Amino acid sequence: MKRIVILGIVALVLAGSGWGLYRVIQPDAHEQRLAHLRQLQIPAAGAARFAFLKQEMPDIVGQITCSCCAKKLIQCYNGACPVNCGPCNEQGKKTYDMYVHGKSIAHIQAYMSKNHPVGASRM
Ligand SMILES: [Zn+2]
Repeated sequence: MKRIVILGIVALVLAGSGWGLYRVIQPDAHEQRLAHLRQLQIPAAGAARFAFLKQEMPDIVGQITCSCCAKKLIQCYNGACPVNCGPCNEQGKKTYDMYVHGKSIAHIQAYMSKNHPVGASRM
C-alpha cells in the first residue's frame, strides 16, 4: 500500500516536471503567431490584401481605425470601403508590418491617429 503511494508521488513528480519542460520548450502563442505571420507575404494592394488581412489578423485590424471612413479596418475589408481604397490598403500594410515587428495594438493605434488621422485623406 505504502509502495503504491510512493509510486503515485513519483509519477506525479515526473508528470509535473515533464509539463514544466514542455512549457519551457513551447514558445508562447503570441510568438508563434508572429513567426507564422512573418513567413507570409502581405499581398499587393487590392482585393488580395483585403482578404489576407481579414483572414490572418481580423482581431488586429478590428482595433485599428480607418482614416477614410472612420470605421475599423476590418469593416473596410468586409465591404465598407472599395478594395482600391488607398488609406485602407496603406494602413493595413502598416498595421501588418508593425504587428509582426512586435508592436502592441496601443502603439499601432497611437501611430495611426498621429499619421493617419480620420478625415485627413479627404482634404
Ligand atoms: Zn475604410
